[in-house]
Amino acid sequence: MKVTDILAQHQDKTLVSFEILPPLKGRSIDSITKILDPLMEFKPPFVDVTYHREEFEYKQAPGGYFEKIAVRKRPGTVGICAAIKYRYNIEAVPHILCGGFSREETENALIDLGFLGVQNILALRGDARKMEKKFVPELDGHAYALELVEQIARMNKGEYLDQDLINPVKTDFNIGVAGYPEKHFEAANYEEDLLCLKKKIDAGGDYIVTQMFFNNAAYFDFVKDCRRIGINVPIIPGLKPITRVSQLNSIPSSFYIDLPEDLVKSVRTCADDAAAKQVGIEWCIQQSKELVQFGVPCLHYYTMGDAKTTAAICKELV
Ligand code: FAD
Repeated sequence: MKVTDILAQHQDKTLVSFEILPPLKGRSIDSITKILDPLMEFKPPFVDVTYHREEFEYKQAPGGYFEKIAVRKRPGTVGICAAIKYRYNIEAVPHILCGGFSREETENALIDLGFLGVQNILALRGDARKMEKKFVPELDGHAYALELVEQIARMNKGEYLDQDLINPVKTDFNIGVAGYPEKHFEAANYEEDLLCLKKKIDAGGDYIVTQMFFNNAAYFDFVKDCRRIGINVPIIPGLKPITRVSQLNSIPSSFYIDLPEDLVKSVRTCADDAAAKQVGIEWCIQQSKELVQFGVPCLHYYTMGDAKTTAAICKELV
């Protein structure tokens, strides 16, 4: 079922959904069931699975020189989506990136997903590789998520790259896109970023999932501003609790967001990470309750592999 149909069917209550990461290469899929089994009591209608493109690393060869090799640390997004669908009978939403994909590879990946019965996709550009200063698309790949949305929307109309196909089937993907209540870090300003978001929606985006935020006012303003410029699709808030003192610095530097002064002050008084996690959980519960009051369609939790913390928050909402 499509995410937007699920949301439309449950307008009387706020749903919860989760984002999980594929296990590190070499680990078993049991790590996924360990996270999701305890979260099933909260009846998520869908679970997102992140995508991790390959990174380049330099390894010293026997001759002493360095070889540049490509390493993908967390493969398996598509397989995990299929496993989730069949084990839990819920929707799995793969994140599909522009980065690392040519248009043809994107088309083939979408065909695989269609065959697996995956109906929802979160269409993203992806970040620059660690060794690159800015995002570099593949030759014949997409430079912006907008172009990926356009390609999926064309396949939904039965338009493939190979125009000689006879009666090609129309795919039927529901397309989610990313939104940034505190602006994407590369955008010239907030308003321009909003206009880029509107282009993704006008091109076929069906719903928005936001970057994490810790100040609900940022989300409320973002929703108001989206509506002002004619973005009328569901806007699902993405949430993550602080779990370590060091995240006071690592979260702003990784995700380009601000942490509210009250939260920072409370975490700074914590003697250790266990105490910081408790503060983070409490903050996230309060945020979640206020968002439910506001009438959000769904609360989307970035689990970061920590089912216990996510469950501690969801338990307070039932
Ligand atoms: P875009 O929408 O393409 O925007 C990128 C930048 O370009 C923005 O500054 C925008 O304002 C600007 N822009 C957009 N269109 C145009 C245009 N036509 N002309 C000029 N400028 C333009 N990353 C992963 O690697 N894997 C994941 O699984 C993953 N999951 C995510 C899930 C969510 C909910 C979010 C919010 C982010 C996720 N990311 C993930 C991170 C994401 O890939 C990065 O934030 C990335 O830098 C931008 O992706 P985007 O899809 O928002 O890009």
